[in-house]
Amino acid sequence: MLDIKITRTTTPKTKPADETKLGFGKISSDHMFLMDYSVEQGWHDPRIVPYAPFQLDPACVVFHYAQELFEGMKAYRTAEGQIQLFRPECNAQRMQDSSERLCIPTIPVEDYVQAVKALVEVDKDWVPYSYGASLYIRPFVIATDVGMGVHASHTYTFCIIAFPSGAYYAEGINPVRIYVEDEYIRAAPGLTGYTKCGGNYAASIKAGEVAAQKGFAQVLWLDGVERKYVEEVGAMNIFFKIDGKVYTAACTGTVLPGVTRRSCIELLRDWGYEVIEGKLAIADIMEASRNGKLEEVFGTGTAAVISPVKELCWKNESAFIGGGVIGPVTQKLYDVMTGIQWGKVADTKGWIVPVCEG
Ligand SMILES: *Cc1c(COP(=O)(O)O)cnc(C)c1O
Repeated sequence: MLDIKITRTTTPKTKPADETKLGFGKISSDHMFLMDYSVEQGWHDPRIVPYAPFQLDPACVVFHYAQELFEGMKAYRTAEGQIQLFRPECNAQRMQDSSERLCIPTIPVEDYVQAVKALVEVDKDWVPYSYGASLYIRPFVIATDVGMGVHASHTYTFCIIAFPSGAYYAEGINPVRIYVEDEYIRAAPGLTGYTKCGGNYAASIKAGEVAAQKGFAQVLWLDGVERKYVEEVGAMNIFFKIDGKVYTAACTGTVLPGVTRRSCIELLRDWGYEVIEGKLAIADIMEASRNGKLEEVFGTGTAAVISPVKELCWKNESAFIGGGVIGPVTQKLYDVMTGIQWGKVADTKGWIVPVCEG
């Protein structure tokens, strides 16, 4: 158990009145969680303080060599006024896995979950009220050693910030167009694809920009060796329903093991679908589309929950999916996942962790 010292702000901000205008990650809540690491003391001094800028030496390791990682999760308010989290221990475990790869000292799962809960409770008034809107939570760890040498830092700061965020689909669920990237890659065996480290995203921005200029919402990454097998989308895992079966890339080191991905696989299997985690060639997907067997395509991730795909464009050929309309399995996953998260559907899986009454 962490002994978290809480210092409340004396100048709370006014909360935005119109929840439909929140956007994503634009306005921070009033507080943040901090905890420091040193070799002598380990993780120490857990505290919640008013949200404020950091003061950091410009020579900090994080600024130059990107020894850093983050997580992304949400707090939800139910109609009954309970504030709750969705499988927070999965995020805590994933941060441990990311930490090992980046030589960052790990934080015990129970401490991570306690810290998130504590911040959400202090800032509970910042959890939005409308269905689909939530408090987006961003835990991250940065390396704070000062000096130009490339080495694992000896000091770190773990910080959690939170942002009230509007419903992702404020104007209804809109299926998206996706560009299959066949030049740039996001990950390769032995690299950091399975971690949520900032460097992965810095390296992916270019492809995203190019695709956006061509009118695509996201990039679909192919494997980094042969550029042949589908891996994932920007910040989402991706699923393909072909001839009744559901396919998604296996988490073998190059794909981010999404909590939403894992939960959707469990639900789909409960509902009797065969879900295959493995290699799926983009050429076979295009072939299935030509044969009318590409039934549904959707991305999964904490931000959007489920994002239906209406078009995949690969080497000047487009596969159009479901006539531009969300498919029945995609819709059911969306309804059940968001239903559990916002407390409208019974949580028979034990995925919900209550934080407090709000
Ligand atoms: C965060 C993320 C996901 C989705 O993970 P969730 O735990 O479902 O939010 C998928 N791919 C990438 C690259 C990500 O950064």
